[in-house]
Amino acid sequence: MSRQEIYYFDNNATTRVAPEVLDAMLPFLRDHYGNPSSIYKFGSQCGREIEEARLKAAALLNADPKEIIFTSCGTESNNAALHSALATQPGRRHILTTAVEHSAILNHCAFLQRQGCETTFLPVDADGSLDLHLLDKSIRPDTALVSVMWANNETGVVFPIEEIAAICRSKNVLFHTDATQAPGKMKMDVKALDVDMLTLSAHKLHAPKGIGLLYVKRRTKFQPYLLGGHQEHGRRAGTENVASIVAFGRAAELALANLKDENTRVRALRDRLENTILSTIANTVRNGAQEPRVPNTSNIAFDFVEGEAILLLLDQIGVCASSGSACTTGSLAPSHVLTAMGVKPARARGSIRFSLGNYNTAEEVDHLLHHLPQIIKKLREISPAAAKPHHAASVHPKHEKPPAS
Ligand code: PLP
Repeated sequence: MSRQEIYYFDNNATTRVAPEVLDAMLPFLRDHYGNPSSIYKFGSQCGREIEEARLKAAALLNADPKEIIFTSCGTESNNAALHSALATQPGRRHILTTAVEHSAILNHCAFLQRQGCETTFLPVDADGSLDLHLLDKSIRPDTALVSVMWANNETGVVFPIEEIAAICRSKNVLFHTDATQAPGKMKMDVKALDVDMLTLSAHKLHAPKGIGLLYVKRRTKFQPYLLGGHQEHGRRAGTENVASIVAFGRAAELALANLKDENTRVRALRDRLENTILSTIANTVRNGAQEPRVPNTSNIAFDFVEGEAILLLLDQIGVCASSGSACTTGSLAPSHVLTAMGVKPARARGSIRFSLGNYNTAEEVDHLLHHLPQIIKKLREISPAAAKPHHAASVHPKHEKPPAS
């Protein structure tokens, strides 16, 4: 791969592995390759390192290490939570979740529906927020699990997990949260929250891809998703990914130590980026509530242009970001999150998510802010939608001025 200068604003997709994390994991790829389940020291020492990593991951959540199950990714953890809730409560066949979850929940729910389960997808309002009264009313006697994400990966909007957990507890229903986008961005305390299950994925946390965890509260019944060997205390079969587990532990340790400083720094960069775009480029609007929101995410609609075109021009100047649409079978489907918030397809397709991380600098934000207005101007000059602002204004009633950037 050529090494163009990279300005990375796609940290909600995945993050750069921290040098400290790489240093911690490398010996387990290079030298310490023994099977952690073996009797001999060469292997059992790896087993001890796994337990050390479990302690560190538990500390990030204020959990007991016994409550941590290492998995292969956030997707597996989400699937395992849904599976376990249904398998341990055969009389309950209803899942309550939201319309804005990650596909790791939504597509598993679609599969469960085909197997005869019922699923309710709660709507969100224009800010991306949930109606807790409706959530409360939607819990049924046969609800096996309520699964609501903590922070949305596209907009950064944070759901009131503590209140949702309290509602579930009062109705004696299991509660799982997909917290994949939360660590390193907000304080996490499962004891205070009182959730039953919680998903994390290490590659959102400056650790490698292919390692996740599922927190399962002590005394919560759990049916493993992967069956086989006795690894992970019989709760997740498969020879452990020692190097990645060690990496996860180190990344969790760093995230906990740096939480306050990094959040303040990243929030200031994100706010400067967002406020400057909104105040200097016409016909732009933030998607989702300003608060509560994780401090690193900004999702902005650029009316009269296609997000994919913006991404291609950003790529030419080394900037990585994501758009509010996904390429499915050759066409651009607007994001399900923005659609659920009532954002019109044209605006959703012109939306870009900028997600910052520990390695972003003020200079990188300057680089982006320097080039972005020109990119938008250029695209609007050739955009048929921008050429007919009166028509576009009826699609976007809030923006009646012709586009001018
Ligand atoms: N849940 C959320 C909210 C995510 O953002 C992601 C990744 O994008 C996942 C789950 C899936 O995590 P993984 O890539 O580790 O399977």
